[in-house]
Amino acid sequence: MRALENYNRQRDKKLGHMVGTCMKSLWACYAVINVCWLILRLATGGYQKGILQKCFFPMLVTFVLFQIYHWLVVKKERELHHIVNYLILNLYLILLLAHPSGLSVLDGLLIGVIAMFPIWTDQRWAKIQVILFAVMVVVRHVVIYVAGYRTVDFWHLTNLIGMFCIGGLVYYNVKYVHDQTMLLGDATRMDAATGLYNHEYFYEELEKRMEAFAQTPEKSREDASFCLLIADIDNFKRVNDTYGHAFGDEVLLGLAGIFKNYCGAKDFAARYGGEEFVLIVGGCHKKDALTRANTIRRRFADTVFADASGEEHQFTVSLGVAEYDRPWNTASKFFDQADQALYQAKNTGKNRVCSS
Ligand code: GH3
Ligand code: MG
Ligand code: MG
Repeated sequence: MRALENYNRQRDKKLGHMVGTCMKSLWACYAVINVCWLILRLATGGYQKGILQKCFFPMLVTFVLFQIYHWLVVKKERELHHIVNYLILNLYLILLLAHPSGLSVLDGLLIGVIAMFPIWTDQRWAKIQVILFAVMVVVRHVVIYVAGYRTVDFWHLTNLIGMFCIGGLVYYNVKYVHDQTMLLGDATRMDAATGLYNHEYFYEELEKRMEAFAQTPEKSREDASFCLLIADIDNFKRVNDTYGHAFGDEVLLGLAGIFKNYCGAKDFAARYGGEEFVLIVGGCHKKDALTRANTIRRRFADTVFADASGEEHQFTVSLGVAEYDRPWNTASKFFDQADQALYQAKNTGKNRVCSS
């Protein structure tokens, strides 16, 4: 499970962190500007009765709420994260209506409607929504400029920045939920322990590649050919029996990590089951596949695992390689080719690579 969580986190990082951090910074700037505004109003005697309740205070409360929920809730409850985020964003929109220098009711409604888009639609609409926000900001400022700029319009600008943040946050949420949905889809294809794909998905992928091979005209089959590598840790039962299953799991993760590292854009790595892993190497012939298999074998043999007492151990792996250079009737028949090569590697001393 730990491996899958790490995998999830890595994917979240890509867009989520970037947009999230950017929006949070903008939001913070927005809050600072509004605090300065309030101080300015107070200092110049421009303070009006009720302004605190109307503007600054609710905004500060929502800002603080947002930060609290972000740090306390988001990390624990992803679904709740989405709901709470929406509630806060919409509460914030309502509060903007109460802002004395802020938006008209019509603006608020418009933003509200636009902000609700992604709840019912998909990511594509979220992109359009952000563009709409941008257009609104530009149009509004052109209108303000044409109509003659006044001091109070500066505060319109700060509100628009705030709206822009909301747009970005909504986009971030939708992207986040979209990624989560994709991950849920992925989760059924993943091996939870190693973060590699699982047995079922491996066969789906293998059949897909076989189909693509069959549909490629013979002359251009060069690119459609692929190789299959099967790896099986040597004497793994003994590893478990001697050092315990928890240590055995670490050794498994070690080999899974090597498979991940050697899985290129055209390749596909999966845990076949137990201590057996498979790698489909795309657009590759047996010679190159044997080199890849030997690299994996050496890399694993060089990996040092420390047990609970700190003692260091090294283990070995055997691999079987088969090339898919002609059509096979079934995936399992082709798989047997690589499996037989693996048996040969096991029967001829282990810690080696054989091909069929
Ligand atoms: P060989 O060199 O012939 O491959 O021998 P082996 O001992 O590796 O082969 P065998 O198939 O007899 O043993 C595989 C062992 O892998 C048995 C099982 O307990 C262990 N195993 C399977 N899945 C896991 C796992 O997720 N974690 C751990 N720790 N052990 C596992
Ligand atoms: Mg085995
Ligand atoms: Mg084994």
